[in-house]
Amino acid sequence: MTGCYDIFAKSKITFRKVVMSYNAWFQCINPACKERYPLSTIIYRCRNCDSLLEVQHDMQALAHRSAKAWMKLFEDRYKSTEWPYGSGVWGKKEWVLPEIHDDNIVSLYEGGTNLFWADRFGKMVGIDNLWIKLCGNSHSGSFKDLGMTVLVSMVKQMITDGAPIQAVACASTGDTSAALAVYCAAAGIPSVVLLPKGKISIAQLVQPIANGALVLSLDTDFDGCMAVVKEITKDETIYLANSMNSLRIEGQKTVGIEIVQQFDWEVPDVIIIPGGNLGNVSALGSGLIMMRDLGLISRLPRIVVAQAERANPLYRSYLKNFETFEPVQAQKTLASAIQIGNPVSREKAIRTLKQFDGIVVDATEQELADAAALGDTTGMFNCPHTGVALAGMIKLLKMGKIDRSEHVVVISTAHGLKFTDFKVSYHEGTLDFPCRFANKPIELPPTVVAVKEALRHALKQRRDRDV
Ligand SMILES: *Cc1c(COP(=O)(O)O)cnc(C)c1O
Ligand SMILES: [Zn+2]
Repeated sequence: MTGCYDIFAKSKITFRKVVMSYNAWFQCINPACKERYPLSTIIYRCRNCDSLLEVQHDMQALAHRSAKAWMKLFEDRYKSTEWPYGSGVWGKKEWVLPEIHDDNIVSLYEGGTNLFWADRFGKMVGIDNLWIKLCGNSHSGSFKDLGMTVLVSMVKQMITDGAPIQAVACASTGDTSAALAVYCAAAGIPSVVLLPKGKISIAQLVQPIANGALVLSLDTDFDGCMAVVKEITKDETIYLANSMNSLRIEGQKTVGIEIVQQFDWEVPDVIIIPGGNLGNVSALGSGLIMMRDLGLISRLPRIVVAQAERANPLYRSYLKNFETFEPVQAQKTLASAIQIGNPVSREKAIRTLKQFDGIVVDATEQELADAAALGDTTGMFNCPHTGVALAGMIKLLKMGKIDRSEHVVVISTAHGLKFTDFKVSYHEGTLDFPCRFANKPIELPPTVVAVKEALRHALKQRRDRDV
């Protein structure tokens, strides 16, 4: 009799496993609306109320697996060669895009980026436990890969299922277009990028060109390109890839989960992130909230958004307790990827900052350039946006809003090699402010005497400086 019962119980468990499935949908972020749409709908804003959408998951289904079991699954997959789960994004597939067929996933093994202890830089500025998450050490050189793998995979699935999509388009400050072009090239899907003429780095411009995108250079700024791409993607054959499309947020949200995983599931005290269109900070928050809701973590870090002073609408709104939000005309900044005056994801970002006891800080051109360069002298190779985050951190330390004993993580959003023009002008001293850490090459005749003399002089100078 007992034997029979056992068999029955076993078969019931198997049955439950088979029917248990995870699913996700678009949902309007307006609490008074909450309209839902299938993820295969070509839609970027709510049809009822025009609010932004976000991807919602069936949390009850996900909660059937214990926190411990999720952690074990994510650890087993991390950087494995089992396709596609070795990717930092697709290793968390059930939390990202559970219903996509593996055949339609377009992955370049994104995520799993270096998180390193910036010991020397931390001590220099007064933090004992400072870590840098190098999201730019990835396929196209910025964190944008995390979101683009998800969006392009979904597009591939939609095309496979018969959707009339002919191309994927975006407006970009450089890195979004590079990521879009790379993933579309890998998938064999045409891409179209709208770039503000003369406002992105040479490397960023060359990337989509090399990857075969249709590159449109418009004599305007990012906000101008965004206005145009919104219009042309009203035609459903051109799919919109900007972060107003919340599929990208689903991939980008793995960054927070991955950081916590890399710390053996310990939550840092503060995470600092540079913000422009403000999708990334919303994504960071969304991944962490999901971890909390599914019991993987029991507390949340504080989140800091750092903006360039020349494009700081969120900072201005923060100073007014987020009671109002006024778009600004973004001024030219070295942090070109965040030169955005009218950020699409502001509501999501403000919601995140309220949940995470958030702070917003801004940095002048000189502050961001010096912070990036000072970091470089300790073995980093910072892009200007990472410079904004580092400068913001230094300011908050001085203001006493971050304590030196806190466990701080700075998200480095792009690889410094994409911004060599910024570094060259800094070290040549051709920017319109004094560059404190400029390190100019010394030009010499090719003789041993001249080199020896220069060495003696320069090394003495360094010793004097370091004492
Ligand atoms: C896109 C980008 C940002 C800003 O991210 P948002 O989601 O627009 O706030 C920051 N740094 C770099 C290098 C970027 O490419
Ligand atoms: Zn709505």
